[in-house]
Amino acid sequence: MHRFPDRLLTGYQNFMDGRFNEQQQRYRTLADSGQKPRTMVIACCDSRAAPETIFDSGPGELFVVRNVANLMPPYEPDGHYHSTSAALEFAVQSLRVSDIVVMGHGRCGGIKAALDLDAEPLSPGDFIGRWMHLLKPAAEQIQSNDVMTPGERQRALERISIRNSIANLRTFPCVEILEQRGKLNLHGAWFDISTGELWIMDAKTGDFRRPGT
Ligand SMILES: [Zn+2]
Repeated sequence: MHRFPDRLLTGYQNFMDGRFNEQQQRYRTLADSGQKPRTMVIACCDSRAAPETIFDSGPGELFVVRNVANLMPPYEPDGHYHSTSAALEFAVQSLRVSDIVVMGHGRCGGIKAALDLDAEPLSPGDFIGRWMHLLKPAAEQIQSNDVMTPGERQRALERISIRNSIANLRTFPCVEILEQRGKLNLHGAWFDISTGELWIMDAKTGDFRRPGT
């Protein structure tokens, strides 16, 4: 018989005894009045880069969408299945979030795959390969730069990808309009999973800095 993973059952019990117990009122209020998160985070599926953990956020605080390599695709109203665009639409038009953070991270497997231009697809559908096409022009440029080490190329593309996603966010008419009106702020961040460092993108220059430096 299939068994639900024990580790999840233990974790759930800890959650009920701990956080849920402590924040029961907050959960009840959120259930009655609905969620009103102020911030949307677009993060990677990577199990080491969970936004709720990194930003120490409680229930109702962050509206999170995660996908391979935290990519925001461009505005494509073509009738296809666009899960990240659907999450964006809800966050911006219904929840009216004031901030959107695209959060990349170090040692990202998706970015690594984008740089491995000769990689064989993992399955006939080649879903990752197709998805990483969003970064193909940048990946080709970075890959051809032979004065950089593989590690430097990886980190460069991780950060270029964040700027790319922010540019794609602006192709959505609702995002562009609200940003121009000063009602929506777009941010880039990059998390180093080995040291825990968080780097924030400078909105003007696109460079990444540690907060307070
Ligand atoms: Zn990743």
